[in-house]
Amino acid sequence: MIDQKKYSPNFSRGKRSNKDIKFIVIHYTGMQSRIASLNRLLNSRYKVSCHFFIDRKGKVTKMVEENKVAWHAGKSRWKHFENLNKNSIGIELVNKGHQFAYQNFTNKQISKLVKLCIYLKKKYKIKISNILGHSDIAPLRKKDPGENFPWKKLANKKLGIWYKSLNFNIKEKNKKKLKEKFFNNLFKIGYRYFQKKRRNKNDSLIIKAFQRRYLPEEVTGSINQKTYIISHFLAKNTNI
Ligand SMILES: [Zn+2]
Repeated sequence: MIDQKKYSPNFSRGKRSNKDIKFIVIHYTGMQSRIASLNRLLNSRYKVSCHFFIDRKGKVTKMVEENKVAWHAGKSRWKHFENLNKNSIGIELVNKGHQFAYQNFTNKQISKLVKLCIYLKKKYKIKISNILGHSDIAPLRKKDPGENFPWKKLANKKLGIWYKSLNFNIKEKNKKKLKEKFFNNLFKIGYRYFQKKRRNKNDSLIIKAFQRRYLPEEVTGSINQKTYIISHFLAKNTNI
């Protein structure tokens, strides 16, 4: 599963135990090339790293040992967890990202990622609901892995939560109530960086983060019925 090892100098000293590892966080590199991304992750000046790096041919590079804390998540929150580096495994996928020329992920990349996640999930007893994207845990700062990432495909392998059929009987016509219920659902799912009752100019970024993952063909930043209904379904399946 691991094709090569290139160790990054960027990680926290001291070991963590297996039970500290509760999350997998998926990223894209967001740089012009594979080599530029690798060099950055290997350079002590940048203070960034990940545990695994998967290039577009599906080659997996191990960069930090799993029992060490890598520096990929930054300032982040999910449920009652803060700054998720210490509790997570970080996986970077090579993709130029939104800033340059956002690409589809390759089949080889995704099939290696799936294998790796199945292995890690079993080894560390990671919950299905704790397989996340960077934008889930830092929605005001990050877009990765973005709307091209095949979350539904991963969910079919029990890697990440998803919804089944949408029940259109739970429509909410009152706009104010719809917003309030939507953000309540997001809070239950684990999203943070918003207030449950008071709306804020940053809320559209939260809505977009949610849509990038669960409604990737409609990343609008506003809550339509579909977005709301998905949140409603997921809020009931938040601890699997
Ligand atoms: Zn990231």
